[in-house]
Amino acid sequence: MKTSIASLSIAARATLNMHSLNNEGGEGNQIQTRMVDIVDHNGDMLKHVLMEHYYQLARGQHLALCQSCQHFNANRINADKDFIKRTETDKVSDADFIDQMLQTCAIDDVAGILVTEKRSLPRKSITEFGWVLGLPDRVSTSSYFHAKYVAERSSEKRAEDAEGQRTGANLGQSIFHRPASSGIYAIVCHLELARIGYNDIKQSYAIDEAERQQRASLLLESILYTFIELNGAMRSTQLPHLVALEGVLTTSTGVIPAPLISPLIGGSDDNATYREQMKDIVIALNGEQGESVKMVPFDTISGFATQMRTLIDSSLPFALAAGR
Ligand SMILES: [Zn+2]
Repeated sequence: MKTSIASLSIAARATLNMHSLNNEGGEGNQIQTRMVDIVDHNGDMLKHVLMEHYYQLARGQHLALCQSCQHFNANRINADKDFIKRTETDKVSDADFIDQMLQTCAIDDVAGILVTEKRSLPRKSITEFGWVLGLPDRVSTSSYFHAKYVAERSSEKRAEDAEGQRTGANLGQSIFHRPASSGIYAIVCHLELARIGYNDIKQSYAIDEAERQQRASLLLESILYTFIELNGAMRSTQLPHLVALEGVLTTSTGVIPAPLISPLIGGSDDNATYREQMKDIVIALNGEQGESVKMVPFDTISGFATQMRTLIDSSLPFALAAGR
């Protein structure tokens, strides 16, 4: 029998080696690191990676996607001209618009969107990531020499490239420095599975059980891939090495939210306190009622993968009562 899961939280410490996930833009020949110990403000990068995985799975399984999301366009349903035309404000109310959007697109459903075309209407995301923070004194960044080589060239070609270099075209051979960080990072993530397909205005579901189940399991699958394969900036040349992953997963089968606390608790030398506190919070939330909140710890990357697989195979998205 499958268990209904309303929400899921993950608090983890991930050890990443030689990554440049936080590099952003360039200045001269020195690529800038945003900050040594913060990989990702607001969790935007991890959410982007998550949605890339979800997009690939959704396409593979032919889930409903709007015209825009079929090409992974970040404007989502705002850029689906036919949909926006079909749902003009004089024809379709905000509540009905949300229903039609949830039916039309599995990405707008789980990733959330601020509709700005013809109306202003928010769809709150099902998935949230917090800032990715380095543990104090556990992250180091170094700069690595890197060269771009250009094949043998004729004297005309060299002259042409030299002219390009002068005008900023940067076609010739060049050297630059690329920073890479290694260290232990704190990651927090929360998923509101109960809201998949849920119209917050009407307080009812716009899609049927089978479709909710499909979106939920692809979303959980994408979470698994996100942690296992941490893509990010410059991944084509510098895929990060995830060498360790430990933390806790909490789930809730009802209205109590799956608890989440920071894996920074306890400090760099103590990886037990945040897990002990999480355990006590789970006991406190359950009271004498039973087991609506559960916690499972994991100590390795494969341990996390195994726990996620069990969850994917044994869960259904919880259904909120209509008109709660
Ligand atoms: Zn879409």
